[in-house]
Amino acid sequence: MKDKLPDILRKYWLPIVLWAIALIWFTSFSVQIPERWITPQLPKEEAYFLASVVGYLIIRRLKIRRIEVGWGIITTGFLIDLLSEFTGEPEIITNLIGIIMVAGLIFMARGFYQFVLFQKKQQDIIRAERDLLQTLIDNIPDYIYFKDMKNRFVRVNKARARIAGTTPEKMIGKTNFDFFPHEEAKRTFADDDYVKKTGKPIVDKIEELTLIDGKKHWVSVTKIPWYDHEGKIRGTIGVSRDITERRMMEEKLREAEKTFRILTENCPVGIYLFQDNVFKYVNPAFARIFGYNIHELVGKKGPRDLTYPDDWSIVEKNIKDRLTGKADFVHYTFRGMRREGEIFDAEVFGSRVIHQGRPAIMGTLLDITERKKYEKMLQELARKDHLTGLFNDRYFYEKMKEQLNRFKRYKEIFSLLYIDIDGFKSCNDKYGHLEGDRILKHIGKVLKDSLRKMDSAYRVGGEEFVIMLPHTSKEEAKNVAERIREVVHQLFYHKYQITVSIGVADSTSDNILQEADQAMYRAKKNGKNRVWVAH
Ligand code: GH3
Ligand code: MG
Ligand code: MG
Repeated sequence: MKDKLPDILRKYWLPIVLWAIALIWFTSFSVQIPERWITPQLPKEEAYFLASVVGYLIIRRLKIRRIEVGWGIITTGFLIDLLSEFTGEPEIITNLIGIIMVAGLIFMARGFYQFVLFQKKQQDIIRAERDLLQTLIDNIPDYIYFKDMKNRFVRVNKARARIAGTTPEKMIGKTNFDFFPHEEAKRTFADDDYVKKTGKPIVDKIEELTLIDGKKHWVSVTKIPWYDHEGKIRGTIGVSRDITERRMMEEKLREAEKTFRILTENCPVGIYLFQDNVFKYVNPAFARIFGYNIHELVGKKGPRDLTYPDDWSIVEKNIKDRLTGKADFVHYTFRGMRREGEIFDAEVFGSRVIHQGRPAIMGTLLDITERKKYEKMLQELARKDHLTGLFNDRYFYEKMKEQLNRFKRYKEIFSLLYIDIDGFKSCNDKYGHLEGDRILKHIGKVLKDSLRKMDSAYRVGGEEFVIMLPHTSKEEAKNVAERIREVVHQLFYHKYQITVSIGVADSTSDNILQEADQAMYRAKKNGKNRVWVAH
């Protein structure tokens, strides 16, 4: 209340002074110089009443109801006092005036008390508001600053002072030229001036500023005009936010994305991601493998459109396994279908991922047509004898096993011809080893040419061959053997003095290979250039 009183005096000094002058003037004039002013009969009571009326008119300006009423009652007291001059002042009136005056004073006292209380409440509200505002601006991590018409700081929050390496108090009256490099301060001045001149705000302007740590920071700046209560611009209010970290994160993200793009765009392996049976992403290699453009696949086609229909069940199962979580990772091959309908072998490595919060499938895909071709070629090479082009002994044993199994299971009979060249050693001696090789090659061709489609010929030793005849008994096989022996005789005997001895056996014997070999041995024993059938 103590500090409120000067406040009240400051606010209401004019009515108070006027009232005091009126009171003094009326009083002294009625007492000392009644003859020369207004009326010589003016009694003291009249002066009090008039002064009181003037005082009332003044006090109304306070607009405090109780003081007004209190003063009104006192004025009424003075009026009664004045009137009592003419009625001879009976005692009852004197008492009444006393009561009226006291009542008026009580009213006024209550009015003053209420007024002081009201003032105090107002001050408390203002202080609370100010505290709230201060707490807000000091605790906010953004930089807040108020500047006057000359861009001098009027008020700043702690965050703003901190980046200048000082305190809010020490910043008052200074400008950005005290805290930033010249060029940067100039730029901020231009912005402040723009806001003041146009009355338009600058919103979220990204600026590079050098802070107290000496480093460049990215700052998002918002500036608005600061109006006084008459609506005139008195400066600017600014809010800035350090977005360096955010920008660095964005930069990193962009870098990561760029790396990802470079990797996938240039990767020769097809990469895909699909969800709900529609491709969400495919890389250029993937599109190229299937003969499409990327935009023809993404969002438009799904795995089924690219799968050879007969293999869809394989692909579908693998997709289902991943989506249901039965398998996290799959690796399989299937036949893909290119845009123009061409079918090719594809190999897939795929896994389940979460894309935009839902399960999806991603993977890599390779066109393995070439690889398959090479694999087939390698396999064939591994089965063949390089000199004659016939199958080799290794493949022979493989096939033998297969045929024996078939015989055991389905009683499917087959025969073997075991062929050995007669006198090949001396042929070699006579014509040379190279010529011997040529002869072996030639004989190989002769053997091949004399076979049916289902038959197969093998070179199982240096100059030893086996012919496998499926679905053939040894009696039938004997005819084949005879024909071969005859052809070789006609082709080679005259020129090289060579013939062949052939042993024949079929799968009804205990050990077909051994028996065929022994039969061949018997043919030799019996004079060579002949066929011997095992019993
Ligand atoms: P036989 O009538 O008893 O079979 O007499 P042969 O001289 O043919 O004797 P044998 O079958 O035991 O001899 C195999 C000979 O075949 C030995 C070798 O000189 C020849 N030979 C084996 N492999 C090759 C080969 O790859 N190239 C050549 N040029 N000769 C081979
Ligand atoms: Mg031999
Ligand atoms: Mg021989």
